[in-house]
Amino acid sequence: ATMREDRINKTKTVCTYCGVGCSFEVWTKDREILKIQPDSEAPANGVSTCVKGKFGWDFVNSEERLTKPLIRKGEKFVEASWEEALSLIATKMTGIKETHGNDSLGFISSSKCTNEENYLFQKLARSVFGTNNVDNCSRYCQTPASTGLMRTVGIGGDAGTIKDIESSELVLVIGANPAESHPVLATRVKRAQKLNNQKLIVFDLRENELAQKADLFISPKPGTDLVWLNAIAKYIIDQDWHDRTFIENRVNNFDDFVDSLKTYTLDYAEDKTGLSKELLIKVATIIHEAKSMCALWAMGVTQHMGGTDTSTAISNLLLVTGNYGKPGSGGYPLRGHNNVQGASDFGTMPAWLPGYEPVEDDKIRAKYEKAWGTTLPKKPGYNNHQIVEAINDGKVRGMYLFGEEMGLVDSNINYVHGSFEKLDFFVVQDVFFTKTAQFADVVLPAAPSLEKEGTFTNTERRIQRFYQVFDPLGDSKPDWQIFQEIANQLGADWNYKQPGEIMDEAAKLATIFAGVSYDRLEGWNSQLWPVKEDGTDTPLLYKDKFGFKDGKARLFPVEWTPPYEPGEEYDLHLNNGRILEHFHEGNMTYRSKGITHKVPEPWLEVSPWLAEKRGIKTGALVRLKSPYGEAEVRVWVTEQVKGKELYFPMHTMEEKSAVNRLTSSYHDKVTHTPNYKEMSVKMEVIEPK
Ligand code: SF4
Repeated sequence: ATMREDRINKTKTVCTYCGVGCSFEVWTKDREILKIQPDSEAPANGVSTCVKGKFGWDFVNSEERLTKPLIRKGEKFVEASWEEALSLIATKMTGIKETHGNDSLGFISSSKCTNEENYLFQKLARSVFGTNNVDNCSRYCQTPASTGLMRTVGIGGDAGTIKDIESSELVLVIGANPAESHPVLATRVKRAQKLNNQKLIVFDLRENELAQKADLFISPKPGTDLVWLNAIAKYIIDQDWHDRTFIENRVNNFDDFVDSLKTYTLDYAEDKTGLSKELLIKVATIIHEAKSMCALWAMGVTQHMGGTDTSTAISNLLLVTGNYGKPGSGGYPLRGHNNVQGASDFGTMPAWLPGYEPVEDDKIRAKYEKAWGTTLPKKPGYNNHQIVEAINDGKVRGMYLFGEEMGLVDSNINYVHGSFEKLDFFVVQDVFFTKTAQFADVVLPAAPSLEKEGTFTNTERRIQRFYQVFDPLGDSKPDWQIFQEIANQLGADWNYKQPGEIMDEAAKLATIFAGVSYDRLEGWNSQLWPVKEDGTDTPLLYKDKFGFKDGKARLFPVEWTPPYEPGEEYDLHLNNGRILEHFHEGNMTYRSKGITHKVPEPWLEVSPWLAEKRGIKTGALVRLKSPYGEAEVRVWVTEQVKGKELYFPMHTMEEKSAVNRLTSSYHDKVTHTPNYKEMSVKMEVIEPK
């Protein structure tokens, strides 16, 4: 028994799935994963994990893993050596840059990859290729939330820790489904409800699990959240319930804000949202009576044409009621991917260098130019939505994408695929041969988190280290090593021996990471940015000052944008999102047996009322049509959705059942985040069952 135990390795890792950032030990023998062992020391989750963190790891040993570089020869891909693949990339990308200019190249980064890899990728785009055309998938989800926070409180991150949420008297959950998308965080909310008598109000179209447990479950008409948020802020101010002292001392622009609310009377709100005046007054009263309140929100808010404005309205309401800077208060956008916070923090964004330092600022650029020994482009680049459009217009000709299934998860994928086909040269780097890889000229095999080391930043701004469990499979390599080799092919002289050295460089350059180091992150330790040079971190933001120069917050007036409607013929509203068992497009979870045996394929949630009207039962096969495409999927009849509302999970390995064959290219006015949640479709029955 002792001998057998000797051969078991126990390595700390951080979950590769959602933004809660659970950490635990992986117990392994050779390449076999024996179990996931949580530990009470883990800062975000303690001894909890969800089904994905516990059973979602078999993909690492999947036979479908890419183990060799592939080069397109006509319609086929053939295996190639690293030398051959890298020199082809260097030649082709340089050729495009020389003929069409630096900005004819686009770079799409990955929120599944590490902080160090994101740092290096933006450095590659900016300092080697000379373009700011670099972005990550927070553009598809959370950029509106970050922007709303930057407008009002100055920092694009959660106000406090996940633990802080427990100490709140009142939690608002708006357009989020944490019980499935952020399960361990939802467990904490449920516990606080039981132990601390915390009140919970859930606003959603769908009666999700947390909604069933809420004190109030409220279902406004799709796309009208900004209206009730503004109306409640107005009502609170009209009743003189706002926090005068807090506003006088810490908040700018109150008078303009009050003026901007004139339209948002209770009558107007009742008309637009479908919520009664009595209900709105009830919510306002509960908010007024709570000594502390925090607001949690996600894609149900952000993925709209007014996503940034609605996020701003949430933060305005928190400011008016004095709910920032104390435990149990503040705004909490719930980040989707494990490292979507970190990818943006470390600079894979078109207008920001690492630590949200603006590329347009001459002093900031000079600091990076000196450190990197190059001249950097001044103008903010294209975001990923604009990159796709620019490819279509022939302005972007070459693209390098890693760890992102853009061909399934971007909206209106029929259009996106058309753009990919126009690229002169396309590099895709991933763990699997993805749907996006079908359009590539070179495919590079990358190593997943268990085969490398690095750090991830969870939704709380918490930076955590994880350690290498296995060697990279076959000839695959950690993404950061691949970037270094490409940079060196192009004349750079990068010599990072391990990711800790990349973090050291980022910490020297970006003020918010000044005191971040691998030593301080050893084992179960973690740091929440901003981190001072002496290593002091910031679990709770805004205690003394907000993120603007004068230290004050700013109320930011916003107006409602009615949601997009494709026309009367499309009579059913299509909602979409996640389910507990799967993650994102599903490249990892559909290859993990522990999960696929539970949920082998996606389904469409249909209300009992609609099922009866159309004569269908659970298991029926239907075709959905929008102006942009069609998709086929099996039906699940459930009370979770009501009336003409449909819910279509986004996870699929089958292109024919991809929800994004139906979504449009319309997007948030401010950030260009697709309006995934604003779509209506019509439904045809293929097999009634
Ligand atoms: Fe992983 Fe999120 Fe589940 Fe935690 S809650 S185990 S981070 S998927």
